[in-house]
Amino acid sequence: MAQSNLTPLDRALSLIADVPDYPKPGILFKDITPLLADGIGFGVVIDEFARSIRSLNKKVDAIVGIESRGFILGGAIAKALEIGFVTVRKPGKLPRDVYRKEYALEYGFDALELHKDLLDPSDNVIIVDDVLATGGTALACHDLVEITGAKVVAHLFMLEIEFLQGRKMISDTHSEVGIISLLKA
Ligand code: AMP
Repeated sequence: MAQSNLTPLDRALSLIADVPDYPKPGILFKDITPLLADGIGFGVVIDEFARSIRSLNKKVDAIVGIESRGFILGGAIAKALEIGFVTVRKPGKLPRDVYRKEYALEYGFDALELHKDLLDPSDNVIIVDDVLATGGTALACHDLVEITGAKVVAHLFMLEIEFLQGRKMISDTHSEVGIISLLKA
């Protein structure tokens, strides 16, 4: 398709670069930095995320962003919706009392942490990250948020790598949650 026939959203998403064999052989890394560097494209994507959240017609109190690219997207979405932004970080980065959720990787494990006092049972949140791959990270973040009693309304991703079946991994344990991705690859 000629570049001029693309919608603004399709043009923006076409800026995501494929990087073969990064960070290791066999991985096709989806690099969103060219999209972030494009002022119009970045704005179009944030507007689309905000529109998707509004169209859920649900009370949303905060955006939860997963370190680190989820911070860039989530912060901008929270600003667009005029709601709070909550950081979920890799271990050892947060200075006060945290909840912690460990999750399995191909080899070994990783963990995510959340400051204990940022969410409570009255909160409805949306979790944001750039890429949905196996779903392990998003599921761990979901479980971490639920420790606080807050409810996860939906997961938002810029891009979903379908063959890795992350959508199934999340919905197998949380069948009620919305899963929205702007692009499937
Ligand atoms: P997963 O837990 O397997 O769903 O992996 C999701 C997390 O790893 C997200 O935070 C992504 O930023 C990152 N990630 C996994 N696979 C890729 C990929 N192919 N390209 C870019 N980021 C990826």
